[in-house]
Amino acid sequence: MQTDLGRQDVIVIGGGLAGMAASIHLAKAGLKVACIEATPENNVIVGESLDWSAPELLKALGLSMEHLIAEEIATYKRHIILDIGDGCRQEYVPSEWLGNSPWNVELRTLHVDRVRLKKALREILLAHDVDTFRDKVFEVERDGKRIIALKTESGKRFDSRWFIDASGCVTSLLPRLFNLPVREYGPSKVAVWNYFHVADSIEGTTLYADGNQPGYMEWVWEIPIQPKLISVGYICTGAAMKGMRQQKRTVSEIYTQRLSEIPRFASVLSSAIGLSPQVTSFRCRVHGKIAGPNWLVVGEAAAMVDPMTSNGVTAALRSASEASSLIVKYFQHGRLPLFARTSYSRRVQELAKFFNSGIERVIYDSPIRKRIGVVNAGDVYTVPAWSMNALYARLQPVGLISTGLFTLALASLRAAACIFYWLCRSMPSAESAS
Ligand SMILES: Cc1cc2nc3c(=O)[nH]c(=O)nc-3n(C[C@H](O)[C@H](O)[C@H](O)COP(=O)(O)OP(=O)(O)OC[C@H]3O[C@@H](n4cnc5c(N)ncnc54)[C@H](O)[C@@H]3O)c2cc1C
Repeated sequence: MQTDLGRQDVIVIGGGLAGMAASIHLAKAGLKVACIEATPENNVIVGESLDWSAPELLKALGLSMEHLIAEEIATYKRHIILDIGDGCRQEYVPSEWLGNSPWNVELRTLHVDRVRLKKALREILLAHDVDTFRDKVFEVERDGKRIIALKTESGKRFDSRWFIDASGCVTSLLPRLFNLPVREYGPSKVAVWNYFHVADSIEGTTLYADGNQPGYMEWVWEIPIQPKLISVGYICTGAAMKGMRQQKRTVSEIYTQRLSEIPRFASVLSSAIGLSPQVTSFRCRVHGKIAGPNWLVVGEAAAMVDPMTSNGVTAALRSASEASSLIVKYFQHGRLPLFARTSYSRRVQELAKFFNSGIERVIYDSPIRKRIGVVNAGDVYTVPAWSMNALYARLQPVGLISTGLFTLALASLRAAACIFYWLCRSMPSAESAS
């Protein structure tokens, strides 16, 4: 696996989705790239439901939608279903007219099997002669804001002209090192999930939630990552999980209990032997100023968006693509101009803020849900979120002015959601008035 260190053009820290995507883009542009990954075999693999902008980003890496489906690396996602119990379901489907001229929007997206996707990306990485190292970066040599070299646990020193931090949300190496500004969204959350074999599978993502639940909402996802294999996950707050654990219940018992309340999973659970669900905890957050003179932060190291938004993969692939383009463009110059750094940071930051604050205020918190019902709240979140993502993919703002206009639109929608939230919270509801 290891090769002669030599001097690289770009060092990428982390070989998750964002790190592999950045490495492939850079190597395709003819740069000499090394990707350092601490635990290649040991990542937390979820199995994701993708936003509608993700397939184009995967295609740019050499993985077309048709190929991903044919190789059973992905399944089609044509809609999102919100199941709020008692047989009440709402489908969110992009309108057919969007698929026609002049819009020509792709109306399908994907769910991915991350183990298989990772393998496919790794093959592309190796085919493009990216040097991969199994090691952990633990020290960064710098001269002011400029990075000079990285040191790894095994004692190696990597020097390079350019660096990309794709170390994920747990490490966030450069944001921590440079003490970058950070904003958190919502409480700490816990996700517990398992894979199940099923006889049927739906070409869509299903979210199960009790929309009338007072307070903060918990939910369950069902994602068909292969034609007959589903990922089923339960998300609640860290505090709720702590409370249930204090009643001496194991995580597996809590997970099974929650799933057994949903009729769809009765037979699935009864045929599952020896459940050992995976668990992870996370806190949604967004860093600012995520680019320096010769480095950029991509993926979840830059911003963690809530899983319910289905935007993590899009954000990881998009930031990897944009960061790589900037390095290719300014490679000879040896330095990122201030306007390029600022506009990159603003785009990543404002998109993540938009999705995180939208999902927190409109769906997770109760004031809007209680006022207009969870099904309408779903529309209030989904329509602008889907549209802004599609618009971003179409317009691809890169300059200062286009970035400024786009981020202004995002900030206006965020402000509108804040005002609506505030109104719903402060005005007495019909029930309480009577
Ligand atoms: C429960 C859950 C459900 C999700 N569901 C969805 C979904 O349905 N749809 C969606 O789009 N997104 C979803 N996401 C988000 C999506 O999984 C992430 O956005 C995406 O995986 C981020 O990729 P990344 O490469 O930025 O980070 P990671 O995949 O975390 O990769 C970071 C890599 O860096 C390595 N690393 C860390 N520190 C070092 C170091 N010091 N030196 C070297 N290597 C290091 C790590 O080992 C890791 O492999 C979900 C996330 C969670 C937690």
